[in-house]
Amino acid sequence: MVTQLTRTAIHVPRSTLTQGMGYDIHNATMLQKTLYSDMDAILRRIRDDGFRLTRIRTAMVKILFDENRPLTSSDIQAQLSSSGIEADRTTVYRELLFLLERTIIKTVQFADHKMHYEICVDHHHHLVCTRCNKVIEIVLGEHLEEQEKEIYKRENFKVSSHSLEFYGLCANCL
Ligand SMILES: [Zn+2]
Ligand SMILES: [Zn+2]
Ligand SMILES: [Zn+2]
Repeated sequence: MVTQLTRTAIHVPRSTLTQGMGYDIHNATMLQKTLYSDMDAILRRIRDDGFRLTRIRTAMVKILFDENRPLTSSDIQAQLSSSGIEADRTTVYRELLFLLERTIIKTVQFADHKMHYEICVDHHHHLVCTRCNKVIEIVLGEHLEEQEKEIYKRENFKVSSHSLEFYGLCANCL
């Protein structure tokens, strides 16, 4: 329940979540706790599946969690670099592929056509500000499930997943 509620929060680096910024501190702390235990679970899963938790692999999972927003491979490369890990593009791509294959992360593509990557935490959509490029995560109600049932009825097409981004202006840019 907590996750559902707080996932509608604006994407901000997780490290700043507890410093206020108009967020509900109580909820932010709970969110942090929930997601960090998820991160540990992911790292454990990788290890239990017999794969090595290399420094770069661990760092990339942590970055994707900490940043709490869809990142491009260059974003990740820059983050790695600022935490003292120099990784070339090929290495970053190889690790992204590894995380994608294990469905630890998924791809998100915005109107800029750049591939973004984010941790698979729960099903949500994105509100993308076309002026400042801020990305806000939002959990919608059940009406899309109804649409999917409707699609199956009308088109005999069984939907297995969907991706939905909304473009517009955020509160700061309105
Ligand atoms: Zn949806
Ligand atoms: Zn904006
Ligand atoms: Zn997202």
